[in-house]
Amino acid sequence: MYPFLSFIFGTIIGSFCNVVVYRLHAGDSPARGRSYCPHCKHTLSSADLVPVLSFIALRGKCRYCRKPISWQYPLVETAMGLIALLVVRQFGLSIVSFVGIVLGAFLFIMFVYDQKYQLILDRISVPAMAVALLFSLLLHRSFLSILLGGILGAGLFFAQYVLSKGRWIGGGDIRLGGVLGLALGWPLTAVALVIAYLSGAAAALVLILSRKSSMSSMIPFGTFLSLATFITVLWGNGILQWYLHGGFFDWVVNTLLRSYNP
Ligand SMILES: [Zn+2]
Repeated sequence: MYPFLSFIFGTIIGSFCNVVVYRLHAGDSPARGRSYCPHCKHTLSSADLVPVLSFIALRGKCRYCRKPISWQYPLVETAMGLIALLVVRQFGLSIVSFVGIVLGAFLFIMFVYDQKYQLILDRISVPAMAVALLFSLLLHRSFLSILLGGILGAGLFFAQYVLSKGRWIGGGDIRLGGVLGLALGWPLTAVALVIAYLSGAAAALVLILSRKSSMSSMIPFGTFLSLATFITVLWGNGILQWYLHGGFFDWVVNTLLRSYNP
């Protein structure tokens, strides 16, 4: 029952994430006013706003003007449902889970927004830092751990920003690095940064090999940072143990040995 309810709760948060992304880009207030169709501006009724189900019932078209509704809406709602499900599975029915889901929503908004518009907004990243700090405090991370994480997360991108005079990364990446560090503390911040760089490099390689992107075109790094933060929030300790206590090296050696022993 709880997995199902957490999923439903997540889809509702996801529906709100869609509204926030749309309204921030349109320059509207994210919290005020009724939702409307972006094509015909018709105010949407509550029957049009049920996460995922409305999209299916309306077959992906606006009830009033029949113009297509973006796939982003049900995708974000479903993904946020899964995010909530995973957080509750990890931290149980607790205040930690609630704050974790809110943190997940902030990260997910930055993920979607950076993907769509190549921008990380202060209006999201600054409150996200406060949520990240609260999350770490609830998990009883030490003050020193949180401080080191924050310095490493924000400092790494600040250094790159200064070195490249703002050409490699934007100021938003510095603040997102701060969110990452405050949410994870030391040493998990290092784990998340490694995941972000590895996944970013892998995606860049795929894009270059498929000739979809030249070296010069920008891949928004914020999408990898927010994804890596969330993965590490959920499984960081396991990944760290696996890496530190020989599991990683055993796995490499055993895999190599097995490949010579048919
Ligand atoms: Zn419409």
